[in-house]
Amino acid sequence: MNTPILIVGQGLAGTVLGLALEQAGIGFRIVDAGHAGAASAAAAGIINPIAGRRLVRTPRIGELLPLARTAYRELEVRLGVPLWRELRVRRLFRDERERRIFLAKQAGGELAPFAGEADAAGFWIAPAARVDVPALLAAARARWLKAGLLREAAFDWARRDPAHELVIDCTGAAARRGPFAGLKFEWSKGETLQIALPGLDPDVIVNRGHWLLPLTAETAWVGATHEPGVDDTAPPAAARALLLDAAAGLAAAPVQPRAQFAGVRLTTRDKLPVAGRHPADPRRGICAALGGRGALFAPWLARQWVEHLRHGRDFDPAVAVVRPVAAG
Ligand SMILES: Cc1cc2nc3c(=O)[nH]c(=O)nc-3n(C[C@H](O)[C@H](O)[C@H](O)COP(=O)(O)OP(=O)(O)OC[C@H]3O[C@@H](n4cnc5c(N)ncnc54)[C@H](O)[C@@H]3O)c2cc1C
Repeated sequence: MNTPILIVGQGLAGTVLGLALEQAGIGFRIVDAGHAGAASAAAAGIINPIAGRRLVRTPRIGELLPLARTAYRELEVRLGVPLWRELRVRRLFRDERERRIFLAKQAGGELAPFAGEADAAGFWIAPAARVDVPALLAAARARWLKAGLLREAAFDWARRDPAHELVIDCTGAAARRGPFAGLKFEWSKGETLQIALPGLDPDVIVNRGHWLLPLTAETAWVGATHEPGVDDTAPPAAARALLLDAAAGLAAAPVQPRAQFAGVRLTTRDKLPVAGRHPADPRRGICAALGGRGALFAPWLARQWVEHLRHGRDFDPAVAVVRPVAAG
């Protein structure tokens, strides 16, 4: 039997979208080529309201964080796996310049209500969160394989697909080569490293440019590297050494490397994702370019797709396919 919608790609974007369609009672199938090189396989799943060297408050965080919290908590119940962990970030200043940026932004109220107590070494950010992306992807994949909804294969965009009224591109960095190839995408290779490191506070992410995320009492995750314009997913020794060095600088105990992950983040010039139908071919849709904020953006985009499919609502102009920074 034909199903109206096909999702291509079961990374974070395709997974959260599929689960939202399922919840809304909208029929779909999903095809995925495997997670090798997927950004979601390297993602720590951190949601940090104040990020980067210039301490930028994430756009629309006040609206998107509660939306993400509700969505992942609801998915925890549906999938029966823990996904959402609320944490604080101890943001350490890298230098005097960062401290001055903080003081100016704090005085101007730009970081409220997320920036808390500060001292000479840094300040506290709360709430922040961590979404267990690997657990989410594994649980959804098992569910859809069992239900016969997921096919493990590479979708060929060049082939006609009369079985589906709408095919939604959730292929992450590969969206640069699909039906939306004309958009102005940017990309950056990134790496994370799992390490053995006992004794971390389980509720605190330490961040000084690189971050240290406690996973269990004995293990942590350190990341992430950024290589703009690079799109291979080999995990080189240089990144491993850099991340080990960063972890050693943030931790009080010796650090032992475990697994290393690499992926390519796709984004746009305004660092906002893209969702909607193709202007010239409405049977093609997209839900991609989640950049370094996939955990935060995925539920927002999925909700917009559901509203669009159910009620014909337009997508938020901030993520629209046709917008000044995204148009080809
Ligand atoms: C090192 C690193 C650290 C990160 N840390 C964080 C973080 O802490 N917090 C955060 O929110 N975000 C983080 N991100 C960003 C986050 O990973 C991404 O925003 C998000 O995972 C993108 O998900 P996606 O589903 O769009 O793409 P992907 O995860 O790349 O998934 C795309 C999927 O599509 C499949 N696919 C591709 N082409 C085809 C085809 N033709 N047919 C079938 N299937 C296909 C692929 O196999 C893959 O499974 C990080 C990214 C990196 C690289």
